[in-house]
This record gives sequence, structure tokens and C-alpha cells, in this order.
Amino acid sequence: MKKQLTANELRQKFIDFFVSKDHVQISGASLIPENDPTVLFTTAGMHPLVPYILGSDHPSGKRLTDYQKCIRTGDIEAVGDPHHLTFFEMLGNWSLGDYFKKEAIAYSFEFLTAWLNLDISQLSVTVFAGDELVARDDEAAQTWESFGIPRERIYFLPREDNWWGPAGETGPCGPDSEMFIDTGRPSCGPDCRPGCSCGKYFEIWNDVFMGYKKNSDGTYEEMSRKCVDTGMGIERTIAILQGKKSVYETEVFAPIIAGIENLSQKHYGDNEDIDISIRILADHIRTSVFILGDQRGVAPSNVGQGYILRRLIRRAVRHGHKLGIEGAFLGDLALIVLELYGKPYPELVENREFVLKELAQEEAKFSETLAKGEREFEKMLPNLLKGNSRQISGRTAFKLYDTYGYPIELTKELAAEHDFTVDEAGFKEAFEKHQEISRSGSEQQFKGGLADHSDKTTALHTATHMLHQALRTVLGEHVGQKGSNITIERLRFDFTHHSPMSAEEIQKVEDMVNEAIDRNLAVKCETMTLDEAKAQGAIAFFDSKYGEQVKVYSIGDYSKEVCGGPHVENTSQMGHFKILKEQSSSAGVRRIKAILEK
Ligand code: ATP
Ligand code: MG
Repeated sequence: MKKQLTANELRQKFIDFFVSKDHVQISGASLIPENDPTVLFTTAGMHPLVPYILGSDHPSGKRLTDYQKCIRTGDIEAVGDPHHLTFFEMLGNWSLGDYFKKEAIAYSFEFLTAWLNLDISQLSVTVFAGDELVARDDEAAQTWESFGIPRERIYFLPREDNWWGPAGETGPCGPDSEMFIDTGRPSCGPDCRPGCSCGKYFEIWNDVFMGYKKNSDGTYEEMSRKCVDTGMGIERTIAILQGKKSVYETEVFAPIIAGIENLSQKHYGDNEDIDISIRILADHIRTSVFILGDQRGVAPSNVGQGYILRRLIRRAVRHGHKLGIEGAFLGDLALIVLELYGKPYPELVENREFVLKELAQEEAKFSETLAKGEREFEKMLPNLLKGNSRQISGRTAFKLYDTYGYPIELTKELAAEHDFTVDEAGFKEAFEKHQEISRSGSEQQFKGGLADHSDKTTALHTATHMLHQALRTVLGEHVGQKGSNITIERLRFDFTHHSPMSAEEIQKVEDMVNEAIDRNLAVKCETMTLDEAKAQGAIAFFDSKYGEQVKVYSIGDYSKEVCGGPHVENTSQMGHFKILKEQSSSAGVRRIKAILEK
């Protein structure tokens, strides 16, 4: 049998290929986007590169390649199907104002056929069909054809399939071209084509040709500086190369699934319902481990990323129970994930204790929730039995959910055990009403988008650096950034420090930042290697795996930090700095919220 390409080998091959084409390998970013209030998680390799697509110079040059951790909570409902995961790895190559469409397609074609040995007869591609605003992408179609892809396997699809961006009202955007592999399964009908959800075609790679700018009047203008952004999913691609029916049969899932089989004494592949629960559990534990073990690791909570994590963990536990697993089990599965991914993602190894501790805590908390919910249900039961309806009202189901965190699915199960049904429509109504009232915004942030680079968030970003420096001066060098989050209104900065700050310390830090702002300091950006940056005393919170070039921002003689930007040009553009709150964030970590006033 032909040797099958593994995820580790594909990752390396992709990078090697693009390095051989003069690309520079850069480190993938954290899953938690920094200073970008528009999204909760990094959803694509493109996301951390947005500022450079928008026009700023990348310190590593115009041709880049990397592998990037991605989370798409928008795909959560699809999990269980053969090819949608909440966490996946994306391989990417970028041209920032260098090569464009023809070369990008040529690279994709060469990699797929000469390096991955895919048979060209399996390959179908899609290109933009054109509309009243932008012409059909004949250049992309002709390029594919010139490599031997027959016309009938080049599909012209409309804007909703083959156009990317802009995420905001205006900005860079353009047509894309997606590469699909025909799995050989029968087609579902005459309209079946790449992009159809029946599973015949697997999308593995997408080349985006960012050649246009959308103007505020809705027109599109060709840009002189054109960019290419591509993304290839590792799990899907190896599934195809290995001739597997789904991503779950590949070596990056097989050990997790074996672990679940072992714990549950159920067999994967026997029964559709069981398989779905196994897949959901396998997907969710993997994603949870990556969120917890990220370089900006997040713990379960009721807001933002922490809330998504909590939902994933709890859903994993529920499916574990559904499979008949008893007692705590997430830790066992997490160890398998850590083992699988420790090499390409060393942060997982570093954060191993945190991952295991938080999982165990959340699992215990949720078990308690479940026990409490069951007790409440038992208490309600006599009254329910007295009534003449065998239906539990939506209001009651919602109370169990809202007060005790008891999931509706379990209420339904408990109800069924006592020959009751649940008014699900009523539950939904109560739930939606509640959501409208307490919408935190986190649910809306599922989809990817451009970073917010307004003047206000830029100034707050500069203020974050200055706060960081002041904290180190006032409290000591042990202060390090643990997290940063900026919205248009305020900055939030988490840092290592063991005790609450005194009123005097807070005042000192605030004064120090304002004194520096009032000196009208110029902000300067230089490019150098990470080692040089560290030698110059710049604050840097990551290690370079590839001797990379980085950007170093200096604020006058006041501070120096490795950072992607953007920043104000001069502190005179900032206003008055004010700390609103200093509080505990978690053990050994403090949190400051601050604003800039006019
Ligand atoms: P689909 O239409 O299948 O959801 P997409 O158009 O959303 O895919 P892109 O945004 O173009 O995908 O992402 C680029 C590549 O990333 C895809 O070609 C695929 O290989 C991979 N990918 C995207 N979403 C997922 C996911 N949920 N799970 C695994 N891989 C994914
Ligand atoms: Mg998608």
C-alpha cells in the first residue's frame, strides 16, 4: 500500500513548498485575536494578516507562509458531518502586493499535483461568475484550463460562493477560486456541484485574489497593490489523501476516538446516533484543549471566549454521558490531544497543568449543575403530576435552564422518563426574550471579520503599551501581559501581579502614563529579528521559532515593545489616560480597565 501522508507531513510539505518559492515562514498567531473586538477567535490564517493586506508593510516581506490554528464556532451545528470541525488547522500562503492570480493558481496546482500527487481527474475548481458590479473571472478559469483542468470541471459560481469581503462597509476584497476533490461518491442529483452539501465534493483549498477595493458608494475599484490570500484545511486534505470518508478516520482523530470507545465501551461505526455523539465529543474536547492551552489561554466563564469554551466543555460532557461514560473523563481525552499536538504547538505542553485543572473544575461544576437540576425537577414533579396536562411548560423548562443551568435536552429526557413532553416552542420563546435583554454580543461575534482599526482603538492600543511600561516601573519587572482586549470605549489589560494595587500605586501608574502622553512623544516602528529586539530591551512575549523579523514600536524613550501595531504616530493624538478599575482576574493575575478622555 502507498504510504499515506500524515498531518505532520502535510504541514511540513506545504511550508517547504512555499519556502522553495521564496516565501518566508512566519509563526501562526494565537487563537485569541489581540486588540480586535470584532471577533472572538481567529477564524482563518488571513485574520492576523489583515493589517498587512490593508497596506502596512509586513516585517518578513511580501511572500509569507504559515500554519494557523482556527476556530469557527459558526460551524458548531455542522459538527458531526464528515468535514466541519470547530477547531482546524489552516495552511496558507500570501502575496502582499507581489505575485497575483496566475502565479497563485500555478502554485496551488503544482502543490496539489506534483507534491501531493493528487490525480488531476479528481480535481474540480470554482471561479467567480461575475455580476453587474464586477466582471466574470475569466483569467482564473483560463489559468486552470491551461494546466489541464477541463472546462466542465471549472464551475462559475455567484458572489455568495466565490467572493471574499470586505468584512466592513469598504475595503479590500475580490473573487476567489476554491479547489474541490471529488470523493467518487454518487452525485445527489443533476444540480450537484462543488459546494453542494451532499458530501460528494470536499472543499480543501481556497485562493482569494484581493484585487479590488469596495468604495462607500458600493462600487468596486481595481487596486494597484493586489494581494493573494489562501487557506488549505489540514484535516480535510489528509482525509482525502488517505482515502478516508471523513476527517474523523484520520490519525489526528483516531486516538481520541479510540479513547472515547474505551471509556464508553461503545464502538465507532456501528450506529449513526452513537457515531455523532462520538464525533461531537472528539471535536469539542480537541477545541477546548486548544482554547485552554493557547498562548493567551482562556478559562471557562460566562462571557466572550470563556463562554464559548464553557458551552463546548458542557456539550462534550453531555455527549459523554449520552454514550454512557460515567465519572470524570475529559482529562483522559485531553491528554490524548496534548500528546497529538504538543510538537507543532508547544504552548499546549507549557499550559498542560492549566488545561487539565480547568477541565476538571468545569466538569465537576457541570456535574453539580446537573445534580441540582435533577433535584429541582424531582421537587416539581408532584405538582406536575397533579395537573391535567402531560406537558411541561416552556416557562418551567426555562427556569430550570436559567436558574440551575440545566440544559433543555436533559429536561426533555427527564420529562420523557415520567411520560411528559416539554413545550419546546415555549422554551425557545422564553429563551429568546431573555437573550434580547442580556445580549452580550458574544453570540454575534462568531463570524470572522476585519479588525477594527479606528482612531479610538488605535489610541487605546498605544495606551495599553504605556500602561504596561508604567506597571513594570511601579510594581516591578515581574509584571507581564496576560491578556489584552480593546473595544472602542476602553482597554482591558490583564497582567501578572500577586496582590491588589494600592490607591497610591494606581495613581502613580496613571500619572506616569499621562506625563509621557503630555511629552508629545513620537511613536517609531523598526523591523529587526526577535533576538535583536530582546537585546535592545524590548518587551516581547513570545519566542521565535524561525528567527523571524518582527516590528518593534518605541514610544519616544518611554517604552519599547514587540508588536504588530497599529499605533498612533504621536502621543499628542491620545487624550487623557484614566484607570477606571483595578481588580482580580484569576489567581496571580490582576485586571485593569482604563479609558482615554478628551
Ligand atoms: P465550507 O464551505 O466547506 O464550510 P469554507 O468556504 O467556509 O468551507 P474557507 O473559509 O474557504 O472554507 O476556508 C479555507 C479552508 O479551510 C477550506 O477549504 C477547508 O479546507 C478549511 N475549512 C474551513 N472550514 C472548516 C471547518 N469547519 N472544519 C475543517 N476545515 C475547514
Ligand atoms: Mg464554512
